[in-house]
Amino acid sequence: MLQISATHLTSECSEIERTTALVAWEAAKIKVLVSTFECGIDSSIVKETINVGGCRSVIHAIQSIGRIRPKQQEGINTPCIFWQTDRKYPFMENDAFEEKLSFMKSLHLFECYNTMSIEYRKSEMSLRNMFHYKRSKLIFEGKDCYRKELFKVLRIQSSNCKMCSVCTSNQSGRDAESARSAIRQRQRDKHFVVDQIRRLTKICLACGNMSCNGVNCMDNSRNRCFKCLAVSTGNNYHKSNECHANKIDTQQKSCPFCYLSLSSLLEEWTNTRNHMPSKCVFKDRIKRILLFEAQNQNDRGLSAMNLLKACLQNENIWFETMTQNLHKMGIK
Ligand SMILES: [Zn+2]
Ligand SMILES: [Zn+2]
Ligand SMILES: [Zn+2]
Ligand SMILES: [Zn+2]
Repeated sequence: MLQISATHLTSECSEIERTTALVAWEAAKIKVLVSTFECGIDSSIVKETINVGGCRSVIHAIQSIGRIRPKQQEGINTPCIFWQTDRKYPFMENDAFEEKLSFMKSLHLFECYNTMSIEYRKSEMSLRNMFHYKRSKLIFEGKDCYRKELFKVLRIQSSNCKMCSVCTSNQSGRDAESARSAIRQRQRDKHFVVDQIRRLTKICLACGNMSCNGVNCMDNSRNRCFKCLAVSTGNNYHKSNECHANKIDTQQKSCPFCYLSLSSLLEEWTNTRNHMPSKCVFKDRIKRILLFEAQNQNDRGLSAMNLLKACLQNENIWFETMTQNLHKMGIK
């Protein structure tokens, strides 16, 4: 059984009960205080308030938020929850407001205005906005930041609080939408690559020639390492079988000869008959694209190895690298 120390405080409690409850509350001897004093009781240790059954008014809402004293305020970690229910309360009647108004009148708060003047009606309207439950209801049912809207009624301009449920759900909505649009973009990219793979069966995309295997058209092609496609002279001199990119374990995710991904999106071309050693339909045309950047490195194939390993073992990385490099080659 969950044991949470709690007590209650209502107008029906005796004076001793009230004092005992409040002393225990302030001394943190009880974890939960349930009270019918809906706009709250000051306490320096409160970290969370839950207001059940609707909110009396804008002023009461702001008052409730203020129950969490500045020392304890940790933004989103110290929530003030308004829990709306279907139940109607006396304060939800128009009469309740009129009563309040006549009470204020009896205190002569309006005597500075002629009851027929615009000023009088304006001040009545702002009282209605501040003390009538309908205004707070509109705010809590609205789509704008709660705190900003509550403050606006008091003519306090503020920016979105970034922690009320409207602010946080807008943020998660935006996150979800950007995740969806990233997925859509990745799908478009994959289709783009599939189209280019179809073209690669006929031509080298670097030069556009049918006769080019993908490497023939590179400058200094005779001096290039067949594995990393870098110029293998001077400091970078290495034989193909010494190249870091010599043997890449593709984990059967790609053809080890032409570097075509064996993705289901490419199944039109993944039949093993098309990929016998030195017979790959794509020749070195895919390798040319994957190594578009790595071929300029002087590290005896180290960058090429790292890049190829990542691409050839993971089709998502393969598609991403193909897309990026095709774009860098000016193919859109
Ligand atoms: Zn907000
Ligand atoms: Zn070419
Ligand atoms: Zn090499
Ligand atoms: Zn192949």
